[in-house]
Amino acid sequence: MFFVIVEEDPPPCPICKGKLKYRDRRIRVRKKEGEEQEKDLLLIPRYRCQNRDCNHMHIGLPDCLVPHKHYDAEEISGVWDGMVTEDDLDSEKHPCAATMRRWIIWLLGNIPNIDGHFRRKAEQDDRFRGLTYEVIHRRTQRWLEVILRLIYNTGGALPAAPGACT
Ligand SMILES: [Zn+2]
Repeated sequence: MFFVIVEEDPPPCPICKGKLKYRDRRIRVRKKEGEEQEKDLLLIPRYRCQNRDCNHMHIGLPDCLVPHKHYDAEEISGVWDGMVTEDDLDSEKHPCAATMRRWIIWLLGNIPNIDGHFRRKAEQDDRFRGLTYEVIHRRTQRWLEVILRLIYNTGGALPAAPGACT
């Protein structure tokens, strides 16, 4: 099962490049790490590959968890890396200052979750050994997308960004 960024027009099947068709949304209850009582309800969109030989089901990232819903990952990474500053805000395509600050706080708060997920995965899978936010951030400009893919493709999730679900 692969994750698919939710779009009007879904990308091709990651396995066979066939056409994906939206199927349904499924509710998943996710307990917040460390907080016994806190639960999130996630609506997870599912897509079915239309190629009969493949017919795989793929899940989409839940809208409210994904920066992509409002801004693409590159934009968020740019904010994070200080390339887009509040001075750029007259440009329409940039998020407002308050939203930018929320994203940065969200990311900062999630570094332990990101690293913790990779550490747990490394116990079962050598490919995750030594992987951290820091390492990925250093290696690729598309670090946010890479991190999200790695986490969601291996059963992990990050808490919703504050203010992103509206
Ligand atoms: Zn397929």
